[in-house]
Amino acid sequence: MPLTHTLGSITITALLDGAGSFFQPRAQAFPDATRAQWREADRRDPDAVGPDGGWWLPFRAFALRRGDGPVVLVDAGIGPADALAASWAPVPGRLPDELSAAGIDPADVRTVVLTHLHTDHVGWAGPLFANADHLVQRAELAALELFHPELPARLLGPLRAAGRLRVVDGDTDLTSGVRVLSTPGHTPGHQSVLVEQGDDRLLVTGDLLVHAIQLVDPALPYAHEENPPEARRTREQILRAFSPLTLATPHLTAPFTPHPHPA
Ligand SMILES: [Zn+2]
Repeated sequence: MPLTHTLGSITITALLDGAGSFFQPRAQAFPDATRAQWREADRRDPDAVGPDGGWWLPFRAFALRRGDGPVVLVDAGIGPADALAASWAPVPGRLPDELSAAGIDPADVRTVVLTHLHTDHVGWAGPLFANADHLVQRAELAALELFHPELPARLLGPLRAAGRLRVVDGDTDLTSGVRVLSTPGHTPGHQSVLVEQGDDRLLVTGDLLVHAIQLVDPALPYAHEENPPEARRTREQILRAFSPLTLATPHLTAPFTPHPHPA
C-alpha cells in the first residue's frame, strides 16, 4: 500500500513510480559536498546509497485529497516505456498501479501540478488525467529551450488543445489550505505545493531539494540546477519560513521527512 500522511482533513499519498541509480557519480551531482556532509547524509538516508556506492533514488508523485473529493496530483512521474525520460530514468513507471492501490481513480484527479518540466516529473501527464487541469508556471513555459525538445509536441500542445493547460504566475491558492508556491532556481518556473492545516504544514517540494545532503546543508548546490544561487536562496528561504514542517519529496528515500531533522 502506498504510504500516506494525514494533515487535518487532507490525506497526502506518496505514489512510487519507479526507482533506480542516478546516471552520474554522486560526487559530481553535489560537487561541493564534504566527506563529513556525506557521512551525515548517509546516516540520515542510508537507503540512498546504491549497491555500487552511487546515488539510488526513487521517483514519486503525490496525491492530495480531502475525503473522497477531487484529487490534486503533484508531479506525474517518469511515465510509460516510451516516455521522454526513457533515455535516463527507470521506465516504465508504475503510477497507474500505485493510484489503483491507493483507491484513486485517475478520473477523479482534477488538478495536476507540474512542479517543473524535467522529464522525470511529467511522464504520465496528459490523457491519463483527462479531467485535470495541468498547472505550469508562466516562467517555466517561457524557458522551453531548457527542456526536452519533444515536450511541446508530446505534452504541452495537446494539453493546450484540450483546454487542460493552466498557466499560473507565482503563488496561487488551489483549495482551502493548499497553495502553490513559486520556488524558482532548479528551473525558472519551479513550483512547490504547501498544505497548511491548523499549525501543521507539509510541503510537496518537487526538486527544491533532491537529496538528504541538501538538508544537512541547504546551501549545497545540485549540479542540475539551472540557477544554483537562486535555487539556494529559495531553498534556504522556504525552509526558514515554514519550519517546522514535513517535506514530501520525489527523490529522498523516505517520502515524508520531518524538518528540522529530529536530534
Ligand atoms: Zn526530478
